[in-house]
Amino acid sequence: MNGKEKKTFTNDLQYIKGIGPKRAEALFNYGIRDIKDLLYYIPFRYFDRSRVLKIKDIYKNINSKIEITIVGKVIYKSIISSGANKRLIIKVSDGTGNIDCVWFGGINYFIKIFNTGDFLAVSGIPTIFNNTLQIVHPDYDKLSDEEDFDFLNTGSIIPHYRTSEELKKSGIDSKSFRRIFKNIFDSNKIFIEEFLNESIIKRNNLLSINEALRNVHFPKSNDMLEKALFRLKFDELFLLQLLVFQRKKKIKIEKKGIKYNIKSSLARKLVDSLNFNLTSAQKKAINEILNDMNSEKAMNRMLQGDVGSGKTIVALIAMLVAIENGYQTALMVPTEILCEQHYSNILNYLKDFNLNIRVLIGGQNKRLRNEVLEDIREGRANIVIGTHALIEENVIFKNLSLIIIDEQHRFGVMQRALLREKGIKADVLVMTATPIPRTLSLTLYGELDLSIINELPKGRKPIKTYLVKESNIDKLYRFIKEQVNKSSQAYIVYPLIEESEKLDLEAATKGYNYLREHIFPDLRIGLIHSKLFSYEKDDIMTRFKNKEIDILVATTVIEVGIDVPNANIMVIMNAERFGLSQLHQLRGRVGRGADQSYCFLVTKDYLVNKSERQAFNSDDDQQIAIKRLNTMISTNDGFKIAEVDLEIRGPGDFFGTRQTGIPNLEIANLFTDENILEIARKEAKEILTHDPDLSKFENQRIKRIFLEKYSTGLNLSQVG
Ligand code: ADP
Ligand code: MG
Repeated sequence: MNGKEKKTFTNDLQYIKGIGPKRAEALFNYGIRDIKDLLYYIPFRYFDRSRVLKIKDIYKNINSKIEITIVGKVIYKSIISSGANKRLIIKVSDGTGNIDCVWFGGINYFIKIFNTGDFLAVSGIPTIFNNTLQIVHPDYDKLSDEEDFDFLNTGSIIPHYRTSEELKKSGIDSKSFRRIFKNIFDSNKIFIEEFLNESIIKRNNLLSINEALRNVHFPKSNDMLEKALFRLKFDELFLLQLLVFQRKKKIKIEKKGIKYNIKSSLARKLVDSLNFNLTSAQKKAINEILNDMNSEKAMNRMLQGDVGSGKTIVALIAMLVAIENGYQTALMVPTEILCEQHYSNILNYLKDFNLNIRVLIGGQNKRLRNEVLEDIREGRANIVIGTHALIEENVIFKNLSLIIIDEQHRFGVMQRALLREKGIKADVLVMTATPIPRTLSLTLYGELDLSIINELPKGRKPIKTYLVKESNIDKLYRFIKEQVNKSSQAYIVYPLIEESEKLDLEAATKGYNYLREHIFPDLRIGLIHSKLFSYEKDDIMTRFKNKEIDILVATTVIEVGIDVPNANIMVIMNAERFGLSQLHQLRGRVGRGADQSYCFLVTKDYLVNKSERQAFNSDDDQQIAIKRLNTMISTNDGFKIAEVDLEIRGPGDFFGTRQTGIPNLEIANLFTDENILEIARKEAKEILTHDPDLSKFENQRIKRIFLEKYSTGLNLSQVG
């Protein structure tokens, strides 16, 4: 929770029954510093006791694939090995029958957790294997005292709380949290003042804040639990929307635009010259863009399409329309390599057009740079492709009217706004491969219209993705050799090492030397990384494109945009170190030609062995790495991948907190709670329409809560 840092240590918590000074301190160190923090410490999951079954009754439900819970005693435990496969069996009896709880992963951990005689509640979907009832990797709960019996007998819903090693040492486990909350709510004191206006509560049928908090910790029923969570999520999203609207006020957006004549002979000429047909999704996007350009309103549109869906050509058509109307266009991209790549592609597309296409990047020599700046200023440059060098003060366009921003998630709000200011009534098209739900894009990017390219060009074969154990890498090398001999090309990407570019480079350089000397001595290997001069990068990419290089060893500099259709193998070393969207972007570098493409995720043996199994319930880094790898091998769909990524990282990290200033949410989920977001957005808008600064008396409580949470967040927008 924001603002937590500012609170000084108070001992208030220690006076709550069940806490005391020692535990109060442990809680404090854990980040729970006062009663409010405590009440907002939301369970991470719930056990629904209303579904507790007797084991003898499970058989009737065996085909329903519904999660059930049973309660019983551990009567036996054993590790069974058959061949390379090992599994742990914990046999549980409840007097009416037995059931096997089975673990394939984490055996050494779980064998220590359970002992004969332990009393457990286990949940999962039951199956029958070898005539025995079993649940694989069940959720479990150790029950050991009277209180648990009470819970069980009342058939209530039991909350589970995360704890830490330190909390456990001071005697606070999930169960202690339940006991503490019971004491708090039994005392019937009111700790949190209602802050929402009566009208908002009524209109949306919300629980009061105290009812919500009570039911989140002690759900009366599933229905009440849902309502309680709804209220808390609403609060979180409502405050977030207030923040977003406040910030938006600071960024001025031009409403009136240029009305172009869209009958463009240049655009027509380009389309006719292509050696492929545009997909219908591309055509639809082009239509939407041209409609914007043909209207009085300024264009403010996002073009969203998975990697390889062909966004560049769509942008280029819009640019040609603007150029034919006598305007300049700019294309801003996040890296120099991508800049050079767009330059050579666009040059190629437009070789018979007699247009002036210029590049503006940081690493240029002074003479060239001045020449480019002058072309821009005098209006001679028709298309300017550049990095964030474009937004520097001394870049002055004569008549820029169309701005394209590629891989826009790499740029901040302010960077986009600054570029926009260089134009006259500028139209803006931002492009992204990161799919986000509509409501969310409204939240993040304001009133953007959305065009989606939801199909890949014809003839593309889905990329085959495999996990490769490090111990098996020689086999992979042999495969690459074979493929290269059949005139394929490959990328081999070395990992991010603790976010340090210097070490990235070391790893890639080492890998490069090793591969060249020991593995592929007779192949042509290139090395590319961000520390090269731009002409060097350019040279290497051109040679790779011209098939003068067989294998390109790289750092993540090739992550975005690079397009070499003949390259059909992507190898990612230490794949466990990469984020999901990064893996997806890297994989998107292949699968661009007609040949079958492959993506190999090389990683530690134990991660591969584990991930062959269903990942079990735990939240350490390894589990998250496994989840990422499993997601990659199970889907090529950028939308699904983004969803998992957002779930793993939270929106702040996902979109880059610095870029968006969107704080991580603790209860709501921007993907799955879209409906609540929509409502919260409406209410926030409503309030600010009548009271833009929240200065009216009836909004003071909202204002206080808002500032408590986001006073620092508001300044973030200035950094952008
Ligand atoms: P992205 O959307 O990832 O930026 P690009 O614009 O780089 O994708 O396009 C990827 C590749 O697909 C390029 O080589 C491009 O020439 C090609 N391409 C674009 N549209 C089509 C199409 N309709 N049919 C075939 N190839 C296409
Ligand atoms: Mg692209």
